[in-house]
Amino acid sequence: MRKPFVAGNWKMNTDTHASVDLSKRIAIGSSEVAGHSVTVAVCPPFTYLQSVIKALSASHIAVGAQDVYFESNGAFTGEISTSMLKDIGCTYVLCGHSERRHVIGETDELINKKAAAAIAGGLLPILCVGELLTERDAGQTEQVVSRQLKKGLSGLSAEKVSAVTIAYEPVWAIGTGRTATPQQVQEAHNFIRKQLAQMYDDMLAEETRILYGGSVKPANAENLMNQDDVDGLLVGGASLNADDFLAIIRAAI
Ligand code: PEP
Repeated sequence: MRKPFVAGNWKMNTDTHASVDLSKRIAIGSSEVAGHSVTVAVCPPFTYLQSVIKALSASHIAVGAQDVYFESNGAFTGEISTSMLKDIGCTYVLCGHSERRHVIGETDELINKKAAAAIAGGLLPILCVGELLTERDAGQTEQVVSRQLKKGLSGLSAEKVSAVTIAYEPVWAIGTGRTATPQQVQEAHNFIRKQLAQMYDDMLAEETRILYGGSVKPANAENLMNQDDVDGLLVGGASLNADDFLAIIRAAI
């Protein structure tokens, strides 16, 4: 019922040549499946969005931004609005990625404004949630994820939230090589789905795609995807290698 979804977060990597080359390799390698049996998206840095969108124009691979600002235009030096992203052909946007929460210092309130602006502007947000290692060790995983979901989606109706994909990304598993076990992932995803049912309704909870992110590699992708509540994968480091990303896409089907 929920189509698998694999998204690559390139973070602050690549250059013009590398981003186009990587896009083309992924498009060729996934041409049989992308858009049909699996949704595929890549999220390059802002500076390469346009060249990647052009390189992928004949493919079924969607393009997302890694961040967006909530104001539509004006004196916000350095920021990029939803209308600018729509204007160049972006479909998705990451909201609240753990590096933006914990390195840049974004709050749940700011992330909520960004997600709301993204939906209002016709973008599809991927709302990232996940606990720190200290929070997991203190038994606070559910409390943290619940807070991030409730605050991140605050004020948004079920209709608006139907545009949202959730990504569960435990901070201790991102870029560390330490993947959460399939059981830990299933528990967290099932908790998120139940939270969505409580906050909205069973239908929205059943239809919302929940991706896992955190050191996903070709070797662990299939086991993660085999969990009932795992609908896809948000891939950082491994999405920079076309062969690895393609292997993860195949594992997700
Ligand atoms: C990410 O950037 O969202 C991520 C999960 O990174 P990695 O796969 O490198 O852990």
